[in-house]
Amino acid sequence: MGAGRKHFELDAERIDAMIVDARARASSPDDAGSLQALLHAAADGVPPSPSDAVALWCSSIDTDVIYRAACRAQSRRGLPLETFSPLYMTNTCDAECRMCGMRRDNRALVRETASSEQVEDQLRTLKRRGMNAVALLTGEYRSERRGWAIEFVNRALRTTEELGFGHVLINIGSLDPQEIDALLDGVSRAPDGSVAPKVTMCTFQETYSREYYGRFMGRSADNPRADYDRRLENFDRAREAGMRIANPGILIGLNPDLAFELTALILHTQHLLASGMEVYLSVPRLRLTAGGAEPRGATDDQFVRLVSLLALTVPDGKIVLTTREPKEVQHKLVPICTVLSAGSASVTPYTDDGARFPLETSQFEVIDQRPFEDVLGEFAADGGGIVNFGERTG
Ligand code: SF4
Repeated sequence: MGAGRKHFELDAERIDAMIVDARARASSPDDAGSLQALLHAAADGVPPSPSDAVALWCSSIDTDVIYRAACRAQSRRGLPLETFSPLYMTNTCDAECRMCGMRRDNRALVRETASSEQVEDQLRTLKRRGMNAVALLTGEYRSERRGWAIEFVNRALRTTEELGFGHVLINIGSLDPQEIDALLDGVSRAPDGSVAPKVTMCTFQETYSREYYGRFMGRSADNPRADYDRRLENFDRAREAGMRIANPGILIGLNPDLAFELTALILHTQHLLASGMEVYLSVPRLRLTAGGAEPRGATDDQFVRLVSLLALTVPDGKIVLTTREPKEVQHKLVPICTVLSAGSASVTPYTDDGARFPLETSQFEVIDQRPFEDVLGEFAADGGGIVNFGERTG
């Protein structure tokens, strides 16, 4: 199913050439008018090309002007806000990503793994509180331990179908074809063989730069996260196994060359859309971890500029914002995003009226720790229902 389509390959030299060209256009007085015209067209629903997007990124056009264009384009689409809550089933991991609290050599993290019964209990708690979408998360494991994680998540995934969740995101690392089949075992299929419930494969590349990928994710063969290409092709394998939704992403703060990351993410998204997948896009900023130093991410201005250009250039991609961001940034960016995810990055944290946020068991620090009803209620109050939360609109 879906076999025969080419897997995604990143041409870094082409992206570098696009950036050189974009910088030249951005500094040329002759091109100033054409960039403004591109922006106006984008606001009216004509997406810029990847080359144009990176030229706008490099240009002296004020971020607020680009942001307002993105707001106008998004309001024309009139999409409702979607949501989901993360559910960490364990904080163990065999990988060594330097920026992550769950890396296997982090002695500052207190390790926890839920039982399947506890996971089911958490899912029931989320449902009782009106949350109808959930991300199931584990670490990433060497092949000998991956079978355990796949069985653990498969059981939870089947429970979400029984409980009637509207959207489930899976974040357990790269999988081989037979492992994706095992992950989806027992999950309903549509007549065309695709996965029937709404299930999204999440594998953020974190950075599309091979150099920075190696620096942060490691290079040793026994590190399950170190294989850049295997990760890059995970969505293509998922599609071939019948999954129809992909969630790529970059972690802002690893590679300082945001023009490169923006362009690569646009190209990857366009590849996935062209292959028939629905695409969610994540662009989280680095946050504090247990045992970690204060992170250096992008400035608010860079972050707003990047999200705005993504919204304009790949309007069919659904940009995910999370409560990693403070309330003020949420309010600024929700008008140009499609999803606001709210919850805790600790293991099985949910209670009947809130969640635990202990940094010593969390993957990273969550800035906005209010109950998700409060976070989402602010947006539901003026815009009606939120998809998969409370009043269901989809
Ligand atoms: S980013 Fe993912 S794979 Fe890397 S250490 Fe953290 S949990 Fe493990």
